[in-house]
Amino acid sequence: MSGLLNHCILQVVLDTPLHAVFDYRWPCAAAERPQVGQLALVPFGRREVAGLIVGVADSSDVPEDKLKDALAVRSQLSPLSPQWLALASFAADYYQRPLGEVALPGLPKNTRLPTTVALDRALKKLAKLDTAHDGTPLNVPALNPAQQQAADAIGGAQGYLPTLLHGVTGSGKTEVYLQACAQVLAREPDGQILILVPEINLTPQLEGNIRARFPGVMLATLHSSLSEGERMLHWLAAHQGRARIVLGTRLAILASLPALKLIVIDEEHDPSYKQQEGLRYSARDLAVWRARQLAIPIVLGSATPSLESWQHAQSGRYRLLTLRERAVQNAVLPRISLLDMERDKPQDGLTSALVAALRLRMERGEQSLLFLNRRGYAPVICCEACGWISNCHRCTAYMVLHRPEHRLRCHHCSLEMRIPRHCPDCGNVDLQPLGRGTQRVEEGLQQLFPDARILRIDADSTRRKGSAQAAFDSVHRGEVDILIGTQMVAKGHDFKNLTLVGILNPDTALFSQDYRASERLFAQLMQVAGRAGRAGQSAGGSVSEVLIQTRYPQHPLYGSVVRHDYDNFATALLEERQQAALPPFLYQALLRAEAPELATAVEFLTQARDLLAHPDVTLHDPIPMSMTRVHNVDRAQLLLEAASRPLLQAFLKEWLHLLRTVKTRVKWSLEVDPVDI
Ligand code: ADP
Ligand code: ZN
Ligand code: ZN
Repeated sequence: MSGLLNHCILQVVLDTPLHAVFDYRWPCAAAERPQVGQLALVPFGRREVAGLIVGVADSSDVPEDKLKDALAVRSQLSPLSPQWLALASFAADYYQRPLGEVALPGLPKNTRLPTTVALDRALKKLAKLDTAHDGTPLNVPALNPAQQQAADAIGGAQGYLPTLLHGVTGSGKTEVYLQACAQVLAREPDGQILILVPEINLTPQLEGNIRARFPGVMLATLHSSLSEGERMLHWLAAHQGRARIVLGTRLAILASLPALKLIVIDEEHDPSYKQQEGLRYSARDLAVWRARQLAIPIVLGSATPSLESWQHAQSGRYRLLTLRERAVQNAVLPRISLLDMERDKPQDGLTSALVAALRLRMERGEQSLLFLNRRGYAPVICCEACGWISNCHRCTAYMVLHRPEHRLRCHHCSLEMRIPRHCPDCGNVDLQPLGRGTQRVEEGLQQLFPDARILRIDADSTRRKGSAQAAFDSVHRGEVDILIGTQMVAKGHDFKNLTLVGILNPDTALFSQDYRASERLFAQLMQVAGRAGRAGQSAGGSVSEVLIQTRYPQHPLYGSVVRHDYDNFATALLEERQQAALPPFLYQALLRAEAPELATAVEFLTQARDLLAHPDVTLHDPIPMSMTRVHNVDRAQLLLEAASRPLLQAFLKEWLHLLRTVKTRVKWSLEVDPVDI
């Protein structure tokens, strides 16, 4: 090798399933070498793709004639920081994926294109924006003592300090976050703050609050409904350190934030912090890792913390701060009652007690919310003459009746068809809907309350961009008497004039096989119940109400809900988990396999199970997934368990190494810390 190098070797990772670093030659003078953390455009197969430079070297083991030239280095974009690379490497390592498959999809698409037109345009646009920064908060309300203590504890924290903020619904956690943010902005002249929310529909509400509070601070939002152009701009604002507050959904955890000083995770228990495809990461867990790596405080807020976080708070790994009361003067937690559906038989899905409560709200001019976590008109239609039911012929699932759209739809493979006029098997014209979804409840309500202004909010009613926001706005403006919706309406929203919440059909979750079902049901019920009575004394002067329709009023879970008793519920559940040796007292991974035939998938998993053994790692028998077939593909899974996380990690690494050498047509993927088993 000659001493006078006129080129260097770029070591690059790419968005491919291959666990490899690729070498490319790049002509440059020694002083002008690209840096680690920069992006480069390189030839890969017949394509030109963006890669991330993870090393710059003098030489390569690749023979000279095989070595290809990199095509361009994106020098206009400052390098990603070593801390960001460490985050991506940790995520790749922990979730057992190649670094390139984690790092590159974490960047905006417009940084990864063969041309730089979009990138250059965004850079130019950002350069033109006002650089003035003023972290002074406006219109700061006085906190109550518990809030003040929490805000000071979070805002004044130094170094790695995870805090669990356990505050009942309406206790003013948002205000605590905002005032803690104000303290950090005042103390750290260049500091950045990351705030995560679980649900995209919650970003506008919080975004509005942040802008009103900090008009002189640049705010960037990152979530999945941004256009690529917007995402590029917001990501860059964060990457350049100009956006001081970054608000986003789970994907924002991979944002480049060179001056990050505080992380806030609102509703930390929410399942949507877990990515359910591709890199199945937990944004909450990565956030905690990121905070520790940077030695900064992190706050996890919830009315119903995840058992994982609760356990950490109990063991002292997290500091626990508690807000026991609602923040607004005179606002108290709603009274929760159970309506026994065996005694008070529902008509059109509503018991007479719930109808009476709705009528009372109508008379008083107050708002009501009905919660039913099932969209569509009816989950299935059937023929009473021959027993035919509307199965999806591609999935282990029913086709759901969507009456307003005159369609049957599979919610899993999106197969759609017209509603058959007669039974496909026997010709009977009298096909009946079974069960009810939000559309059917809406229809029943319209007949019961012809004068009421009724609004349904679910994934179907909010397909158009912006329509969800418009719907929530009209509720806030008081243009709705009865709101009916799925979990979309249950989380986080601060409805001021809502004094009644009716919960229609929560029982199914009581008997689920998923050991997390009761934790989730409890959280969901407390969340939706928490939408009621947030603004204090109602016009009628009464306490607001939550009515839960159930066939099992004696069930202990409902008892805890009625008493608003998270602490005892969580403690009992943790004890159960410990006795049954379940997470968080045990660590799990799940290998999934997909094949046209179930037997092929199971066979592959059996082969996988027999590849490697360890006395302290349990590999269970492969089983079909509970929804076995989706879109003509059969799915099976293999569960791995160990009492130690490092041990499981080490085992997985070795095991996957072997697994990757198995020749198979089965599509497989591994999930670490699975939540749906
Ligand atoms: P949480 O997120 O804990 O459910 P929010 O942050 O949405 O609660 O606050 C509930 C309501 O209480 C909001 O309307 C908020 O404006 C109000 N609020 C918060 N803190 C105070 C306070 N110190 N004084 C009066 N109202 C407050
Ligand atoms: Zn029939
Ligand atoms: Zn289907």
